[in-house]
Amino acid sequence: MDKKQEHKYQGREYKYPSFIKKDFKPFNPIELYKKTEKIVCRDSNRKYTKFYCTGVYGGISTGYTVGCCLKCVFCWVNWSRDFPYKYGRFYSPKQVYERLLKNAKFRRVKKFRISGGEPTIYKEHLLKVLDLATKGDYLFILESNGIILGCDKNYVKELSKYSKDNLHIRISLKAGDEEGFQRRTGAIGEYYILPFLAIQNLMKDNISFHVASMSDPKLMPNSERKKMLNKLREIGYLKYLEEEICDPYNTTIVRLKAAGFNIL
Ligand code: SF4
Repeated sequence: MDKKQEHKYQGREYKYPSFIKKDFKPFNPIELYKKTEKIVCRDSNRKYTKFYCTGVYGGISTGYTVGCCLKCVFCWVNWSRDFPYKYGRFYSPKQVYERLLKNAKFRRVKKFRISGGEPTIYKEHLLKVLDLATKGDYLFILESNGIILGCDKNYVKELSKYSKDNLHIRISLKAGDEEGFQRRTGAIGEYYILPFLAIQNLMKDNISFHVASMSDPKLMPNSERKKMLNKLREIGYLKYLEEEICDPYNTTIVRLKAAGFNIL
């Protein structure tokens, strides 16, 4: 960790990487996941910044959690992703569920989601939220970058106990090869395979899911997109692919510029 990644906040020193710069040193995303977990998780509680309903998925009650194990240059999440020690407050699984439910009832929507970071960080917390939130006629959409689900088969097995009517997973691919993965997420290239392994694990355990990809042509070259599609075919995923476009949020613009991408 270089000096530039040391930050002082409320008298404490944090050695935590923020957003990637042109000269960044690639990091191990599993190590970052563990480092992030130590900051954003306490007892059964996890940090969140806010709860409200959004129009995506036809209307969904969303909790915005703090912390991720990647540093995507196109990420729209606020600065809580880069400075998790500064943002959010701790919520218990019950408090998370109550917030999700209250907002869903108010807006008359039937879907829940955790977004804003990587929801699979801190399994104990997520499974407790799911125990509460996957009942009745509510659908919980779990959005994940697939890093943790790709390296922990048991985690995926535990997710398979929830009904397909109540839990759907969206795995979001960031790249189609090692080079693209490292350049756009900051993580060491060889870990690009983990989200594909997550897809295999989800198929094996017969879990309801679909795959998304940040394959905006401004970010992902055609040659890499082809590799991604081939890889998906190779592992047996032949269903719907939701291809995303990079939106110009303020944080996204700063992150793209810092990493040397002039695309927006
Ligand atoms: S885009 Fe998703 S996976 Fe990438 S850094 Fe942001 S929250 Fe994490």
